[in-house]
Amino acid sequence: MERIRNYIGGEYQEPTNNSHFESFNPATGEAIAQIPESGVEDVNRAVGIAQEAFNSWRQTSFSERAQILRKISELIKENTDQLAALESMDQGKPIWLARELDIPRSAANFAFFAGAVEHCSNSATQEKGCLNYTWRDPIGTAGLITPWNLPLYLLTWKIAPALAMGNTVVCKPSELTSLTAHFLTRIFEQAGLPRGVCNILFGKGDPCGSSLVSHRDVPCLSFTGGTKTGLAIYKEGASHAKKMSLELGGKNPQFVFADCNIDACIEATLKAAFLNQGEICLCTSRLYVEEKIYLKFIERLLFRTKQIKTGDPRKEDSYLGALVSEEHLNKVLSYIDLAKQEGGSALIGGDRLSLVGELAKGSFMPPTILTGLSPRSRVIQEEIFGPVLCVFPFDSEDDLIKLGNDVPYGLSASIWTSNLSKAHSLAHALDVGQVWVNTWMKRDLRVPFGGVKLSGIGREGGVHSLDFFSQTKNVCIQF
Ligand code: NDP
Repeated sequence: MERIRNYIGGEYQEPTNNSHFESFNPATGEAIAQIPESGVEDVNRAVGIAQEAFNSWRQTSFSERAQILRKISELIKENTDQLAALESMDQGKPIWLARELDIPRSAANFAFFAGAVEHCSNSATQEKGCLNYTWRDPIGTAGLITPWNLPLYLLTWKIAPALAMGNTVVCKPSELTSLTAHFLTRIFEQAGLPRGVCNILFGKGDPCGSSLVSHRDVPCLSFTGGTKTGLAIYKEGASHAKKMSLELGGKNPQFVFADCNIDACIEATLKAAFLNQGEICLCTSRLYVEEKIYLKFIERLLFRTKQIKTGDPRKEDSYLGALVSEEHLNKVLSYIDLAKQEGGSALIGGDRLSLVGELAKGSFMPPTILTGLSPRSRVIQEEIFGPVLCVFPFDSEDDLIKLGNDVPYGLSASIWTSNLSKAHSLAHALDVGQVWVNTWMKRDLRVPFGGVKLSGIGREGGVHSLDFFSQTKNVCIQF
């Protein structure tokens, strides 16, 4: 069993209290690592070292930083197979998905922000004998807190722009998924990242994450995770006037019009609803299909869903692996019970999937499609974060805006139609941060990413990340 250690100032350290907890492979139930139970002393130590490192890191040139980020990117690519195996074992996702999505994206995050920072320039204006010029200063030590669903993907999405802009960071990955973050620290060493610039603490949300949030020398927080946690962080951070970016939960609708390319839509719907066991904040959870094609569409969707295999994450033909933990599986299953109480029923799936042999203790659940629920039911209003899709027919386009917006979340939506005018008007009326038309989860690193309502505050991605991880200063000169 691997013993994970904190990475502080370029050194591997045990937590001050010398206390650890076990982390499990969700496909087998086997304990695979011991994780430090870091506390306030560890946070204080890491923040102190990150602050010292800030004094010199902020003086490095954009090209020096970009060079190191590119080296990190290359090393992630070179270690793709090992990182993918760790991510799959730790999180439960199929290994092919980690190899094709999580790890390449993690490498791309570093390469992209290396280029972004080299190409970003600042502005100058002149009027009535006054020259104004504006530039971006780094902020200091940023606290980065990330969830378990896309562990390395989301961690690197924050580390790369924060470092590119000259900040130092203290990271707190999810307690459920520490392995790839730990491996990344070895890559930092090999890439020559100066000590103390990126520190990673392992442990639980409370006290490790919460001490980072309330630390007075951490002026900037980027958090991705659940809405409840995000709101608690927002409240605490606000009392210290911290700069914050919060990427939270979702309850994303998909609208299917009769005039769309049905074949492409069916395949994309499977992906949107069930990829990564439905454990992606952008997954479609509410599917609205135009009445005149509803029955045929659902019949074909069920046919394809039956063909999807849920099973051993190490097997290349498993489309779904295990949910992240037994506790999370039970939470998802409790929503299926609730759906039945609320008048819904499962067209397919809905139960735990029991496998045999070494997978007998795994937290598996097949893709599930629910019907018969009312728009105001809890199952339709709350985030489930599992392989659960709720389907509805619609007959009037006029209802769609209300249906789409009638949830507390506003992260993303997708629209399937060949009528672009219809797509534009619906896209504009939806209260969400991003809309896909005739596709799903195409994530260009240059575009703004984030949610509205309970899905979050702020935007990251491209220049928005560079803006978030810096503060502008203006100088006005009379001449
Ligand atoms: P949580 O909110 O439970 O945890 C996220 C992170 O916050 C973890 O590292 C967690 O630590 C930490 N944390 C928990 N409590 C505190 C606290 N009081 N102070 C500081 N940090 C704390 O989310 P999950 O890990 O369960 O992730 C799933 C959620 O993430 C879903 O709601 C999903 O929608 C959302 N998400 C949003 C995305 C977006 O971009 N909008 C993208 C991906 C996921 P620990 O693990 O120890 O609890």
